[in-house]
Amino acid sequence: MSEKEKTTRKEIAAGKTLKNLMADYFHEMDEAAKTGSKKIAWCSSVGPAELLRGMGFLVFYPENHGAMLGATRMATDLIPYANALGYSPDICSYLTCDVGSYLQKKTPLTRAYNIESVPKPDVLVFNTNQCRDVQDWFAWYSRELNVPLIGVHTHRDIGDIGEYQIKDIANQIEELVPELEAVSGEKFDMDRFKEAVGYSRRTSELWRACLESAAAIPSPWTFFDATIHMAPAVVARGTKEGVEYYELLLPELQERGKNGVAAVDGERHRLYWEGMPIWGKLRPLSEQLAVLRACVVASTYCNSWIYDQLDSDEPFESMAVAYTELFIVRDEPYKEQYITDCYHKFQFNGIIFHDAKTCPNNSNNRYGMPERLSETLGIPVLSINGDLCDLRCYSEEQAKTNIEAFIEQLEEE
Ligand code: SF4
Repeated sequence: MSEKEKTTRKEIAAGKTLKNLMADYFHEMDEAAKTGSKKIAWCSSVGPAELLRGMGFLVFYPENHGAMLGATRMATDLIPYANALGYSPDICSYLTCDVGSYLQKKTPLTRAYNIESVPKPDVLVFNTNQCRDVQDWFAWYSRELNVPLIGVHTHRDIGDIGEYQIKDIANQIEELVPELEAVSGEKFDMDRFKEAVGYSRRTSELWRACLESAAAIPSPWTFFDATIHMAPAVVARGTKEGVEYYELLLPELQERGKNGVAAVDGERHRLYWEGMPIWGKLRPLSEQLAVLRACVVASTYCNSWIYDQLDSDEPFESMAVAYTELFIVRDEPYKEQYITDCYHKFQFNGIIFHDAKTCPNNSNNRYGMPERLSETLGIPVLSINGDLCDLRCYSEEQAKTNIEAFIEQLEEE
């Protein structure tokens, strides 16, 4: 890269607080796991976190650990250990790298936080709203560690959501309560639950506003920044700390927007990222796009942790709504309309679809959606092959060449 081509990455000041928040989050759990001072629940990333927080559990998210394994590029070497147990290389690489990490006693938490291992769970709680893999993943740990496994089974591929679906999911969430009481040894407290729902709602409202700050032209931040700063929306939802973090981040982004501070100097192209991040390649992708003056201004992925339907007056029902209205749970027409709405809001002029080899659930390029959207929106689309964690599925050279050609195409539009 020549001097001329270099771009300056503008650090987000709130990042320092983010580092402390994440360190506190992991240290608190490590301490609790060692002393037994608090019960620990493992939860799928779009699982019923508010109920767990509201019942006094500390909550660990194995998918967050999977993303860390991917981002630190530890994942690819660990996946074969799970494959050797019969877990296919074609299923979720979060699952396989995380199980490999357990088997090999290696975790990125050691280097980042001086923590030896992930906290042992007292209970494993999933929601199949995103995929079946989370249930199979937690089932492996349930057998291995002899820990109870409970969860919610969500309807999938939904167009219009029916009342019966919401009632069913709300009931399923409520039915978790006695099982969780048995683990925690504490009686369910409705006020504490409502408080957690309220914090989660506020976190979501703020997180949405942070993401929507990227509608400014030029955009004050990119998808690559947001994949880092979304961590509290995942792991600290249902807590005061989650709210406080986004109360800090939002004004910084709004200030940048007001002052015309561009995340990508000389922003010329605005893109949408559809699909999973390629965790081990965030930096090179972000740098390549910045050099090409292309800013990824919005994504399905980062939007997936907005649950502003939550309502502490109707905690079970509103959780059912929030966790069923999710993009990943919906049918193709809904998804296309969703991306179309984003197109109008963020004014992007191209879409990159990431076809993640081990996550069909988050790869929406396989049934003609890119072609349909390209036609209706009149903008170019690109599909790149890769994976969230398994870098054997990703050809960096190929992706680089495809992205360059795609940006050339945008230049000609
Ligand atoms: S949605 Fe995809 S990445 Fe997430 S847990 Fe399921 S298979 Fe893995």
